[in-house]
Formats: sequence, structure tokens, C-alpha cells
Amino acid sequence: MTKEKREIARRPDKAPIATAWDYAPAPEARDIVKIQERYGLFIGGKFVEPGSGERYTTIDPAREEPLSEIAQAGKADVDRAVRAARDAFANGWSGLRPSERAKYLFRIARLLQERSREFAVLESLNGGKPIRESRDVDVPLAAAHFFYYAGWADKLEYAFPNRKPRPVGVAGQIIPWNFPLLMLAWKIAPALAAGNTVVLKPAETTPLSALLFCDVLRQAELPPGVVNIITGDGRTGAELVSHPDVDKIAFTGSTEVGKAIQRNLAGTGKRLTLELGGKAANIVFDDAPLDQAVEGIVNGIYFNQGHVCCAGSRLLVQESIYETVVAKLKRRMATLRVGDPLDKNTDVGAINSKQQLEKITALVQSGVDEGAEIYQPPCKLPERGYWFVPTVFTNVAQSYRIAQEEIFGPVLSVLTFRTPDEAIEKANNTPYGLSAGVWTEKGSRILAMAQRLRAGVVWANTYNRFDPASPFGGYKESGFGREGGRHGLEPYVVLDDA
Ligand code: NDP
Repeated sequence: MTKEKREIARRPDKAPIATAWDYAPAPEARDIVKIQERYGLFIGGKFVEPGSGERYTTIDPAREEPLSEIAQAGKADVDRAVRAARDAFANGWSGLRPSERAKYLFRIARLLQERSREFAVLESLNGGKPIRESRDVDVPLAAAHFFYYAGWADKLEYAFPNRKPRPVGVAGQIIPWNFPLLMLAWKIAPALAAGNTVVLKPAETTPLSALLFCDVLRQAELPPGVVNIITGDGRTGAELVSHPDVDKIAFTGSTEVGKAIQRNLAGTGKRLTLELGGKAANIVFDDAPLDQAVEGIVNGIYFNQGHVCCAGSRLLVQESIYETVVAKLKRRMATLRVGDPLDKNTDVGAINSKQQLEKITALVQSGVDEGAEIYQPPCKLPERGYWFVPTVFTNVAQSYRIAQEEIFGPVLSVLTFRTPDEAIEKANNTPYGLSAGVWTEKGSRILAMAQRLRAGVVWANTYNRFDPASPFGGYKESGFGREGGRHGLEPYVVLDDA
């Protein structure tokens, strides 16, 4: 018996160990992006000092080092940004020929492509996500969104046949920290294409790519006030939501804050779309291509450290293949490289913040306490920064917190089923309804499952695939409204009779 086989036989769960196949470091150059020591608020086409006088430090979560001083927008700052957006709406942007609006959006898309390396490095530095993901997913998809909605700008009457679409007005947009640039693109591109102006608040921990985006707006010569970026914490978001001159709020974030916003807006007549949490089921049938499915399971939960609202965080495996799938999964997990987000070989980067790390740690502990079996591959974590080893729980009951609550970290819970009906029952047994995955060889089964799953997006034999032409959004406590595709224009237009 080889040394490795002896080691595997000794391990209680027979889980394989990582082979000693180390990669040489391949760090992306960090100096491609210039980070200013401090930033103001981007209002009316230029950076201004916050009237509040307050600032906070944004950090690199992988090194716990400060990156820049960020302005905390207060009530008067929010008001100033909304007034700039209203002015730009009334005096130019909403009346601009749609084909002219399209030109700006095309310009922004091309500039994002040209400066993609800069954005990728910045996104990884400030958010902790692996450069491989920010370079190959976040930034290209953000550019693709601007290209896509640039195409719609002068074709709105085809998007809504027999109706006369007109813009809603000033949109207040609040985005989270898991995909800072991509969520910005999801929000800003359709709003501008439809002729609205925008005040956007990035998340407290990840403001830097939105602030670099202001420079793209300058290069694109977007008229002042069409897009305003105000940084700050939840208080800034709350001020934006309750500002009386905002016509529409678009929010992506936690279900808790989403509900608070909905309560706040009740009766005001303001439009609202909410993209909230999820606890998606990734369902693997016994006829699925298992190696491919294991790749999909890994991508579904460990992509972006599991900081993904549509993450496949509940794995439902058909009972007959349970042992095989779990063994293959553990073997694959042992090869995941956790570490420096700027290293091109890294698969799993840093947890976005100390607060999020604490939340993940507490939920994982609850899983252990409630009786689930935990597996974490051997993994050496960097000494500084916020890290969590990719984790899988087996022996999970439906009632456990790890099977019910959104963990928003690299933690997977495995459950089993025997029949398609049982799979549906378990998959839908959650307050959420954002996404799901189905792995099977049979096309008819995919269609039958997709019809019965209460989820806004159902992926078949793949996971976490995004396309600007495809609408995304939830059922139940995952929110309402759709982003992406033609549907993504709807919240930003008033439809008059033609
Ligand atoms: P939040 O929902 O608090 O943050 C989302 C955005 O809303 C941020 O820009 C935030 O600002 C802002 N915000 C916070 N409070 C208010 C408010 N009262 N009114 C208006 N805007 C507000 O998420 P957290 O960052 O606190 O994360 C908490 C948990 O939420 C995570 O652990 C995760 O489970 C879940 N989450 C889910 C997301 C999803 O897409 N499904 C995305 C992000 C988080 P600020 O950043 O300054 O707090």
C-alpha cells in the first residue's frame, strides 16, 4: 500500500487527502490600479467632499490592510445627489434621442473592457474574491450588461409592443458586497437605457470599483448628474430609500433589510424591486454525469467563497448514488486552493469581512451542535485576513439551521431523496425561491422538475451561469422583480397606451 493510500485508510471518513502538487505563486500585479488615499462623493459629474464630514476606512480583507478613506454620505449629501439626478433627468437625459443614450452605454461597455485588468485587480483587492473570477466572470459580465442594454435603448417600443414606454425618473439603487461591479452594471445599465437617472450606493465594505467606475463615466463623457455614486453604510441606504424625490428603489441584499425597505415604502407609491437571499437546492439524480455534476456542485457553492445569493447551498442527492457523490466531492474539495485572491491559481479567496466570517463560523458551529457531520479538507490558511475552509456537512436534517438559513459562505449541506416528488418537496421547503439546479440525463425530467421548482432560475446540468439576456430574480422571500433581459427594463419604464 502506498503512503497516501495508508493515510486515506486511516482517515475515519476515507476522504482522500490533497496530493502534494503545489503550484508556484502566480500573483497578478497589484500596481496596475491606482487607489487614491481618499475619495469624495460622486455627485453632478464630479467628486465632492461629504457634507457630513464623516469618513471610514475600506480594507483588503485578505491582508486586513487599509486601502482608502471613504466618505460617509449623510442626509444632506443624499439630498444633493438626488437633486443632481433630478436636474439631469429633467434637463437633458430623459429627452435625449434614444440612439444617443445608446452611444453612451456602448462607450461605457467598451471602456470597461479596455480597463478590465484594473477593475479585476481592484475587485479582488477590496472584496477578497479570486482574480480568476473577477477577471473571467465579474468584469466581462459587467461589460456585457452595458452592451446588452445599449442595444435596447433605441428599441424600447419593440420591447413593449403597442405601448409607449417612458422613463420613471430618478432611481435609487442599493447594492451588496458580493459582486460590487456586476451588481452596479445590473442596476445602472437598464435604468440609463430606459432614460432614467441614478443615485447608487455601493456596499460599505466594497466601494472601490464603483468609485473607479466614476472615472469611466468621465471618460465616456456621460452628462453630469446622470449617474451619482454615494458611499456610506446602511444609514446612507436608508436615507436614499426614504428620500421623497426618488421614484424607484432597486435593492439587492439581505432579506431582512429588503423587508425593512418594503415596510418603509408601503403607501408611498414609489416603485420597488428586491433581489434578496436564497437557499438553493442543487438536485443530482442517479442518471446524472457524476464527474460533471461534482464540478457543478463545487462551482455552485465554493464560487466566490459562497457569497452568492443563488449559491447551490443545499445539495440533494438521490439515495442510490449518495456514497459515490460524497466521496467524489470530498476528493475534489481536497484540490481546491484557498489563499491570496490576487494569485491566478487561487480557487477560493478571502471572506469579505470580519462580520461575515463571524456569521459563517456561528452557523457552522450550529450545524455541528445540531448533529450534522462536518468535513473540511486539509488546508493551510494564511495567517492574516479572513478565511474559511471549504466545508461540507452530511447527515443533515431538514430542520437544521444550516439547511434553512442563508450562510453566504463556502458551506454545503447534503441531503438525500428517493423520488422526484421527494426532491421537489425538499427543494421547495424553504422561505426562499431564487434558484435551483437539476442534474440528470433526461430532458423530460429537467422540464418536469423546472416546472415544479419554485425558483426564479433553474439551471440544468450546469450551475451559476449568467447572461445579460436572461432574467434573474426570485419568488417568496427571495424578492420580486427581474433583472436582466427584456424583463429587466420593466421596472424602469412607465407604459402608456400607444
Ligand atoms: P445588507 O442587506 O445589509 O446590505 C445590502 C446593501 O444594503 C448594502 O449596500 C447595505 O449597506 C445596505 N443597507 C443596509 N441597511 C440598509 C437600510 N436599512 N436601508 C437601506 N440600505 C441598507 O447585507 P449585509 O452586507 O449586512 O449582509 C448581511 C447578510 O445578508 C449576509 O450575511 C448574507 O447572508 C446576506 N446578503 C445577501 C445578499 C444577496 O444577494 N442575497 C447580498 C448581501 C448580503 P452597508 O453595506 O453599508 O451595510
